Amino acid sequence: NTGFKSDIEIARAARKKPILEIGASLGIPAEELLPYGHDKAKISADFIAAQRQKKDGKLILVTAINPTPAGEGKTTTTVGLGDGLNRIGKKAIVCIREASLGPCFGVKGGAAGGGYAQVVPMEDINLHFTGDFHAITSAHNLLAALLDNHIYWGNEQNIDIRRIAWRRVMDMNDRALRDIVCSLGGVANGFPRESGFDITVASEVMAILCLSEDLADLEKRIGNIIIGYRRDKSPVFARDIKADGAMAVLLKDAIQPNLVQTLENNPAFVHGGPFANIAHGCNSVVATKTALKLADYVVTEAGFGADLGAEKFFDIKCRKAGLKPDAAVIVATARAMKMNGGVKKDALGEENIAAVRKGCANLGRHVQNVKKFGVPVIVAINHFSSDTEGEIQAIKDYVATLGTQAVLCRHWAEGSAGIEELAHKVVALAESGRSQFAPLYPDDMSLFHKIEAIAKDIYHAGEVIADKSVRDQLHVWEAQGYRNLPICMAKTQYSFSTDPNLRGAPEGHTVPVREVRLSAGAGFVVVITGEIMTMPGLPKVPSSEKIFLNEQGQIEGLF
Ligand code: ADP
Ligand code: MG
Repeated sequence: NTGFKSDIEIARAARKKPILEIGASLGIPAEELLPYGHDKAKISADFIAAQRQKKDGKLILVTAINPTPAGEGKTTTTVGLGDGLNRIGKKAIVCIREASLGPCFGVKGGAAGGGYAQVVPMEDINLHFTGDFHAITSAHNLLAALLDNHIYWGNEQNIDIRRIAWRRVMDMNDRALRDIVCSLGGVANGFPRESGFDITVASEVMAILCLSEDLADLEKRIGNIIIGYRRDKSPVFARDIKADGAMAVLLKDAIQPNLVQTLENNPAFVHGGPFANIAHGCNSVVATKTALKLADYVVTEAGFGADLGAEKFFDIKCRKAGLKPDAAVIVATARAMKMNGGVKKDALGEENIAAVRKGCANLGRHVQNVKKFGVPVIVAINHFSSDTEGEIQAIKDYVATLGTQAVLCRHWAEGSAGIEELAHKVVALAESGRSQFAPLYPDDMSLFHKIEAIAKDIYHAGEVIADKSVRDQLHVWEAQGYRNLPICMAKTQYSFSTDPNLRGAPEGHTVPVREVRLSAGAGFVVVITGEIMTMPGLPKVPSSEKIFLNEQGQIEGLF
């Protein structure tokens, strides 16, 4: 990227407006905004509750092809499209996730967009922001402490300490904490047992915060968290050890959405950030629903490719929150098409139209999948400076054969001016009334059949295989009243299959279910199909080595 400014340089040069002005542009009175400094604010619960009767705007999902190391730019396109819609005179709000602090010091790549399509203050958004993740960490660990304390003082609930289902969390990449033994040191410290840490974004509390309608709903869901099992295998809930009230207290501010702005001074909600594998990977329901009350268009993003991100957005978030998306944008790049077509990362700079054509099979599968949910689709080609005319045309021609349009977008380099065409077409699509949104499977289908529906209809797998122990577990949960829950697939994001190296559009593969987990508070059954990391490690040369404060006290090296 020589010759281009870095994301942080562009972000630092932003001419931000006071956050109260951004709020005023949405009709939020100053007294309903809870400012965190001059450029961030939370929106009061009272104001949100008072919007209930208002009409909803249109909901636009931004999703993508399977990610490649070449980078696709979903967040960049979400932010760019929000600015583009405002540019053509529409009232639009962007809704994205908050960043996890841990990965900022590991591998480069921020969560605030990129180039001239970013939300600011990007340093804050990528680091402590308004403290939501710290609050979630504290609430999660309060429950862990209460659990060990309950056992220490006599274990009235008869929790089997071999079957404890609640670990601890921290918002850091730290492989040393993946597996630990706790309560060492003698009688006064409790009963030694194996445990471990996950990263905060993998906490069920995070998923709950993002799916809750309000604070009361949050408290109820927290009470439903399963913290372990008794010897007779009956579940013990967070409410059984009276943890729910105090945890909700710690989360009372964290559940209020955060308002910030784009580089072009348009409003953005940045709120919540659940993992996209063992959780559903979307920003909070509270933020999305509030945005729908305040704007004509809400542009939001789902993590990973559409096989995981969009599927969970539709089948978990929209189903549970009663949201009805009006259009979907699938982000593709010529580089990623080439990689899907077999080109290695170091050869991406060379034109290769044949590889682009071959790789388009991946894009085509995602386009057809999203249409299965009844949502009209458009493809955004996120332009990179090395793309050639021929490669772009090849993507457009291919997408046209699917009865869909692909639009070239230059928002990364040009801001909203580079994405006007997409903005106009998204408006037309969302206003066409064509969306007939319905989830992929009904609530009352059996859990295993739901897994098969996703594997066969979305991944084009031939079969799902699972040990008897897994099937038995699903039956036990069905008998306990969890049959109606949606499925949250944890699969590699790099392929439609469970093999990360299988790019393109593989068919007839087998999906092996290794393990199933019940997130009873969040309200989904997690289905694990491969190695899923819930506590990342740092690379040999972590990006933290390049992060420092310069002489003016500004942060350098953060993307
Ligand atoms: P995603 O949300 O899909 O993970 P992001 O939008 O966060 O991706 O973008 C990842 C990185 O790629 C960011 O650093 C961003 O600046 C960069 N990027 C995105 N679009 C472009 C582009 N068109 N040209 C160059 N870099 C880009
Ligand atoms: Mg993103």
